[in-house]
Amino acid sequence: MNPVVLITGASRGIGRQTALTLARNGYNVAVNFHSHEVRAKSLVRELGELGSDADCFRADVSSLNEVKAMYDQIHRRFGKISALVNNAGISEQSLFTDITDEMWDRMIGVNLKGVFNCSKVFLPDMIRAKSGSIINISSVWGQTGAATEVHYSASKAGVIGLTKALAKEVAPCAVTVNCICPGVIKTDMLSPFSSSEIDALKEEVPLRKLGTPGDIANTVLFLLSPGASYITGQVISVNGGFLI
Ligand code: NAP
Repeated sequence: MNPVVLITGASRGIGRQTALTLARNGYNVAVNFHSHEVRAKSLVRELGELGSDADCFRADVSSLNEVKAMYDQIHRRFGKISALVNNAGISEQSLFTDITDEMWDRMIGVNLKGVFNCSKVFLPDMIRAKSGSIINISSVWGQTGAATEVHYSASKAGVIGLTKALAKEVAPCAVTVNCICPGVIKTDMLSPFSSSEIDALKEEVPLRKLGTPGDIANTVLFLLSPGASYITGQVISVNGGFLI
């Protein structure tokens, strides 16, 4: 039977492309979405056309109760999953002095607690099976910090710390935990930036181009492949040389 992967935040962007790439490579896919149900359903149809047994599941990853309910639905539909890609995320630009309690809590809630919630709920099956893989999508800003994105940078730095600690803890159970730090990737997340701001960002990238969702999807595919089975606790930068 094909392995089952859960990808959070797969209705758009990096998550969507990762679902397509994994489906083309023999995975059945559980697609998590939050608000874009129509897009998630249309992705499930596309995945089906690629021969993947796929379905979509709504949950706000910041809510442990919603993630538990999603686990029950996925378990009934697919049984155990063999891989979890914690990709769901939000971003926001704000001066530090303008970040409110609510903005801080929402950012940490989705980007960091979301990773905690999904890992907490789906990991026990992997530990029992003595196999499995978790891939967390952090960010270059979690490595280096971004002005006007202190809450985003803090959430993504937290994901790096969580990855390293959890990898050590579950390695004896043959479960791997790794983290990918994308640079600037062409998705809806860049929509707050003007075209001149995007051009300026491109100039800062040594490869002189933005990354694509496919660049991240291919890295996920590699990390899930048998050839990467000795890699755990690592932070893989996919950023065109933006941070070296
Ligand atoms: P995107 O196009 O904005 O897509 C975000 C995805 O996350 C959507 O599928 C969205 O679902 C989902 N999501 C948001 N809040 C959620 C929640 N509370 N619960 C469940 N799902 C939720 O973003 P992207 O660029 O693909 O980003 C994917 C990941 O890569 C994020 O973690 C982001 O921080 C990281 N990243 C992106 C870049 C970049 O330049 N694009 C760079 C570094 C890191 P709905 O559409 O259903 O609401």
